[in-house]
Amino acid sequence: MSPTKASARSEIGGAGKKFPLLSSALKIGSMTLSNRMIMGSMHTRMETMDRPLEREIAFYEARARGHIGMIVSGGFAPNSQGLIDPGCFIMNDGIDKGYHQELTSAVKQHGVRFVAQLLHAGRYAKIDDSVAPSSLKAPINSRMPRALSTKEVWETIADFTRAALKAKECGYEGIELMGSEGYLINQFLSPRTNHRDDEFGGSWENRQRFLLEIVRSIRAAAGDDFPIMCRMSMLELVDGGMPQREILELAQALQENGVNSLTSGIGWHESRVPTVAQVTPRAAFKREIAAVKAVVDIPVIATNRINTPEVGEAILEEGVADAVYMARPMLADPDFARKVLHGNEKLINVCIACNQACLDHIFVSKVPTCLVNPRAAREVEFPEGKTDKPENIAVVGGGVAGMVFAMEAADRGHSVTLFEQGNSLGGLLNLAKVIPSKGEFNDFIRYLSERLLETGVNVRLGERATPALLEDYERIVIATGVVPRIPEIEGIDHPSVVTYEDVLTGKMTPGSRVAVIGAGGIGFDTAEFLLSGGGGEYANREDYAKEYGLADNADVSGGFQPDAAMAPKIQREIFLLQRSEGRLGKTLSITTDWIKRTRFAKSGVQMRSGVDYRRIDDKGLHITVNGIDETLAVDTVVICAGQIAETSLEKPLRASGKTINMIGGALFATELDAQRAVDEATRLALSI
Ligand code: NAP
Ligand code: SF4
Repeated sequence: MSPTKASARSEIGGAGKKFPLLSSALKIGSMTLSNRMIMGSMHTRMETMDRPLEREIAFYEARARGHIGMIVSGGFAPNSQGLIDPGCFIMNDGIDKGYHQELTSAVKQHGVRFVAQLLHAGRYAKIDDSVAPSSLKAPINSRMPRALSTKEVWETIADFTRAALKAKECGYEGIELMGSEGYLINQFLSPRTNHRDDEFGGSWENRQRFLLEIVRSIRAAAGDDFPIMCRMSMLELVDGGMPQREILELAQALQENGVNSLTSGIGWHESRVPTVAQVTPRAAFKREIAAVKAVVDIPVIATNRINTPEVGEAILEEGVADAVYMARPMLADPDFARKVLHGNEKLINVCIACNQACLDHIFVSKVPTCLVNPRAAREVEFPEGKTDKPENIAVVGGGVAGMVFAMEAADRGHSVTLFEQGNSLGGLLNLAKVIPSKGEFNDFIRYLSERLLETGVNVRLGERATPALLEDYERIVIATGVVPRIPEIEGIDHPSVVTYEDVLTGKMTPGSRVAVIGAGGIGFDTAEFLLSGGGGEYANREDYAKEYGLADNADVSGGFQPDAAMAPKIQREIFLLQRSEGRLGKTLSITTDWIKRTRFAKSGVQMRSGVDYRRIDDKGLHITVNGIDETLAVDTVVICAGQIAETSLEKPLRASGKTINMIGGALFATELDAQRAVDEATRLALSI
């Protein structure tokens, strides 16, 4: 099934192409994909917004125009109990067939295969009367599910079958059963959540029955030429989860019962091992996916942290899988596949695995978008085309806001000059990229730099913009960012005090006992940097496997041994402090703050809230917490107390009557974040 480089080249006639395997065709059952890049299923919640059909068509069609080989829809519930969120689609007789036929036609006209995912959320459903194999509450859902009766299990199988037929009527060309990540099918398979004593529980054979009956029933009803894909858990990462031995047997049973391809699922949503964050290495789960591929003949599709064509091509070349499944990378760049096929991979806007605008939104029931691409799932809000009034624009500041504005404005036909007083572009991203495992930020800087070149922006590095220098421009966009806030604490001028900028740029090397004042995003990042004594690398599998206790043995339940997990090596003793009461890290990403807090707890970082800073002197940092005075005998105090806007150019420019726009941190330093900066800069450029 795996293509060889030579055979792939002859199939696509693509000799010389850099990614011949990704670019080659693939058959899944009766269906042929023009290439091996698949847009993975994403829960977008667009159906809950105004003008949902227009939004969905714009979203999916943008990806179809980008030549992706196949799109897997967001999960459709087979019945009302399977709804992941109220208001989402149920694929039954009540579905608006016309809506879906219009959507599927819009995608298929581009020669892209469109498959419907069927997902029953089971105990993850955020609805009343949720159901599960057994009445066991999920740690990530406050609702207690009701155990399905045996009769109801058979009815659910029938609902899956009707949903598959309905999806076919709606124009979807196949289905993918969501059998991983801890949803209902996975809950039946795993002894962790299946404590039943009827024919659907107990023995391994009984635990498989629910899924295999669904497959048999759909195959019988939909015929042999209707592709059935199955997303199955290839590594569970939960206590009491399936061991690898069962996973391999399940893969074979699915093949024998007529499944046409297997997509990897890694970890349950409730797992305490990160599987998609930046700390997870790229293509981290090759070993587990390759083990499944070795025991079946149907195509195996690899997932999780595949965000560049280089990573995808290597997976195919090494024979790990037959295709790659990318979800978040398709938010980041709808034209990913087209750029791969046409040799423009340098212009791919890479997903940096931050989760900030996608999964974090989903967790609070918002429609996701993307930090590096604000158009994602908002396509209808962003006009296309050129301006009819080109202007001569100066942008001051080469951080993320300035770079994004400059490239978007130049794309619209304006003449743009970007001034950056430093010798490199990227601004605060240059500090982010040196944090352990945050090397991904390099890719965003690289992308923006390539786009500035492509769009013909005149970049003037090492040049400090002054009102005199800016005189000839019709419009000036101030994107000068922020400077660290220095709090008023007695002794703040003591030689032991440094800013996060001093530390992250390598200007100062802190001692072995460090107090960090401020526990926002930058305080946490700086503490991580200090713990490891460096950073900026991409995460690697070996360290990750050690840190989270991934198992080598095929009999280990869930595929990991939390007791074998090793604490990360630490370089320093750290105190992380904030004035406000309550848990530290509350303002960080919902889906990743737990990773940082767990790592800090394992590394002995002392986290204190409700801190009153009294004084800094030769003895260290003097604080009061809950009325008790304490002296932290530290060598270095690092200030991470937020930012203030750098706006010194604003006043003289306004006085000269120039048209001025402010964006990013220069506009609003509080709650500064890259997502807001990118969105704001893009919208401003498109409004001119
Ligand atoms: P921040 O999140 O606003 O945190 C500032 C910290 O400084 C808070 O802990 C605040 O807590 C403290 N502080 C504020 N004024 C102070 C004062 N006068 N004296 C002492 N302490 C003071 O700002 P940031 O850490 O600089 O981050 C900037 C932005 O970057 C944030 O919006 C964040 O979203 C983003 N970012 C995010 C991540 C991430 O991983 N998600 C990473 C880096 C940056 P108290 O007032 O309670 O002391
Ligand atoms: Fe990727 Fe971050 Fe965009 Fe999500 S928000 S798709 S993780 S870059």
